[in-house]
Amino acid sequence: KKDEKAQSTGKRERRDSTPAVYVPVERRPDIQESRLQLPILAEEQVLMEAIKDNPVVVVCGETGSGKTTQIPQFLYEAGYGRDAMIGITEPRRVAAVSMSQRVAEEMNLSQRTVSYQIRYEGNVTPETKVKFMTDGVLLKEMQKDLLLSKYSVLVIDEAHERSVYTDILIGLLSRVVPLRTKKGNPLKLVIMSATLRIEDFTHNQRLFKISPPVIKVNARQFPVTVHFNKQTPGEYLQEAYKKVCKIHRMLPAGGILVFLTGQAEVHALCRKLQRSFPSVGDAKVKKTAESKETKKSKKEQKLLKIDLDNYTIEGDEDQADDGILEDDIDLEAHIVGVDDEDDMDDNGDMPTSDADLPIHVLPLYSLLPPDRQQRVFLPPPAGSRLVVVATNVAETSLTIPHIKYVVDTGKVKKRFYDKVTGASAFQVTWVSKASADQRAGRAGRTEPGHCYRLYSSAVFSDFQTFSPPEIARRPVEDLVLQMKDMSIDKVVNFPFPTPPDVEAVHAAEQLLVQLGALQHTAKPKDPKAAPSPVITPLGRAMARFPVSPRFSKMLALGEQHGLLPYVISIVAALTVQEIFLSGGGPAGRAEEQQEQQEQHAHSSIAQLKNTWAGQGQSLLLGDIMVLLRAVGACEFAGCTNKFCEDNGLRYKAMTEIRSLRTLLTNAINTVCPGAKVHIDPNMRPPTELQAKLLRQIMLSGLGDRIARRVPTDQISDKSHKFAYQSTSMEEYVFIHPSSVLTKTRPEYVIFHEIIEARKPYMHCVAAVEPEWIPLLVPNLCTFSEPVQDVPPTYDSDTGRVRCHRTSTFSRLGWQMPS
Ligand code: ADP
Ligand code: MG
Repeated sequence: KKDEKAQSTGKRERRDSTPAVYVPVERRPDIQESRLQLPILAEEQVLMEAIKDNPVVVVCGETGSGKTTQIPQFLYEAGYGRDAMIGITEPRRVAAVSMSQRVAEEMNLSQRTVSYQIRYEGNVTPETKVKFMTDGVLLKEMQKDLLLSKYSVLVIDEAHERSVYTDILIGLLSRVVPLRTKKGNPLKLVIMSATLRIEDFTHNQRLFKISPPVIKVNARQFPVTVHFNKQTPGEYLQEAYKKVCKIHRMLPAGGILVFLTGQAEVHALCRKLQRSFPSVGDAKVKKTAESKETKKSKKEQKLLKIDLDNYTIEGDEDQADDGILEDDIDLEAHIVGVDDEDDMDDNGDMPTSDADLPIHVLPLYSLLPPDRQQRVFLPPPAGSRLVVVATNVAETSLTIPHIKYVVDTGKVKKRFYDKVTGASAFQVTWVSKASADQRAGRAGRTEPGHCYRLYSSAVFSDFQTFSPPEIARRPVEDLVLQMKDMSIDKVVNFPFPTPPDVEAVHAAEQLLVQLGALQHTAKPKDPKAAPSPVITPLGRAMARFPVSPRFSKMLALGEQHGLLPYVISIVAALTVQEIFLSGGGPAGRAEEQQEQQEQHAHSSIAQLKNTWAGQGQSLLLGDIMVLLRAVGACEFAGCTNKFCEDNGLRYKAMTEIRSLRTLLTNAINTVCPGAKVHIDPNMRPPTELQAKLLRQIMLSGLGDRIARRVPTDQISDKSHKFAYQSTSMEEYVFIHPSSVLTKTRPEYVIFHEIIEARKPYMHCVAAVEPEWIPLLVPNLCTFSEPVQDVPPTYDSDTGRVRCHRTSTFSRLGWQMPS
């Protein structure tokens, strides 16, 4: 009987190609029927043969063609799950969870067999045969078992997204696959992409010596008419609301899918739409006088700028969607009522539908609980129109049925890295052309559709063709440290699909060695191989912090000494440029004006109503103390615009510092729960001892940015008065006139950066003691043999024997006692 069934659904042929290992699956008839509609089913035999005959196969197919849900089933039926697991990686947690549920359901198996594992949770059992996981989870597993012996096949889904983890995974797997073949226990690799832009994987000798075969799945795609806005509105959220209203009022039945950037926006639009239209069950609800009132007042309300530039922490891309750290502002208040008289620019001749048709509004974003996500797959209640308000997850990860209209804001939240601190922040930007086309394609899955782009065609023509891989945008130092933390030692030779600059990788390794995060091992295991430095315990501690290595070292030491709130404030303040107010002016008077402004900044900071004394050690903290004072006082005053204005601070800068502090504080509490840091509006100034420790911590991170005052007798040129010699430049450098250390002029200083103005100026200067240098930045010192006539001493506190030596700091030959 089963044979007949198999034959009637076209199963017979596939059974013939792999008869020995076929694992039968009993599917429900409705499931079986809907599967047969999927374009991927037509390719099953070709695909399975390609996988049987090749170690690596690339599959390209439009979103919704059935790649994620069907390929794991093909593999299971072909027996790949018999002795080992079938693993599928997803860049997003949402996909790992919901796809494992869907596949279990389609195969009529429990989640004990088809399971998922994401960072903090999972339902994997010893019986698991098909395992969905995030790419981060698989990378962690590879640290323990590089050969991945538990798996017979690995499917890398959404490879076109080019997340850093996906790229690293593919690089690692390109080496593991031949190793497994050599061992006689082959591992199959399937790379899946929703776009045809796959040359980085297929024609890449570094990665695969033999180009893997590409299986293209031709999805049935109905034509989609794309409508551009004549003008690009500033308020895309409001524009999206208007557009949905118009479509609902004027166009024939069919689901609407709206693309927004984050959870807060999704909820705001959902609520607004639910209030504006009757939902199922109250179809006859009429707009009351009251709601007209609100509409009017909302219209009159002056729009504030929506600022969603929210910082968030390193980790799964889900956080972009989730908007964990979005300010809790009432976005809904920003959506003003739709103007009924406003004619539909591009659809003057549209047929009118029943304006009282109920609306079925559903949100969709990564961290929405799975049961609520599932609702988008069900048909909407009879007689209602489905409106799904989604983030980027709906672009390729999840295919929503019944969509005829797409409303595309053209925006996405993307991670940007600060060049200086390496802190990453999600910012709203334009999507790429490829993404915009993907989004439009969502409208043509079941019948011809329409895509409304809420931006002009001129704006569209400026979009990037594809968004560059994340690895190209990420600071290299940070990447190197993360990879070393994953026990990938030879980053330079790593087979990246798109490699970072080799020089930059070397420079990053050097800096990390200087910082003590990496260490050269005495003997490389393979004598022929160039030694590559390996990670130290300090490096591991640093790798947990979502900032660049200099700063993560400061944070790691700050944690050790209970100074995290200060170090967090300092790192945040150093990230944000120009915290003091300044105005423009005629170029000729720039200098004078600059000095005036600096004085102003100075005196206003001094006036901050705060008890932070500028004495002793605190004074030696120099400009960093000024930053701390500004942050502390501003936080104390509630970070108001007025306070900033009164004290010569830039409000925008101070709010940025605030969100960055929140970001770092949250991130640190996640990675080291023991730290228990919080943002204290009553942060006290550091004590003398703390200020001294803070200077040492700054030195440990900025060890290669030290300068020493040039002795007066060595200065011939008058303009070189008070010059400093830095480790990084031949030229003399100077303390910036705005610094609080211009009067003290300590012998040794550290600085945050050098800015070329009239002279090369050091910015953010703090004093350091010369004796600290050999202790805190020994990598930059060379030491003499122990001095013979001074006997070694025993330090009973540390239990160490100390030899007396002289140390020479860097190539400049500064001699210091040690
Ligand atoms: P691809 O990976 O190629 O984008 P998928 O395998 O994700 O395609 O989707 C194939 C089909 O399965 C789509 O039509 C989608 O709507 C449907 N589908 C996916 N998940 C579910 C679910 N949880 N419930 C109902 N249908 C689903
Ligand atoms: Mg998919």
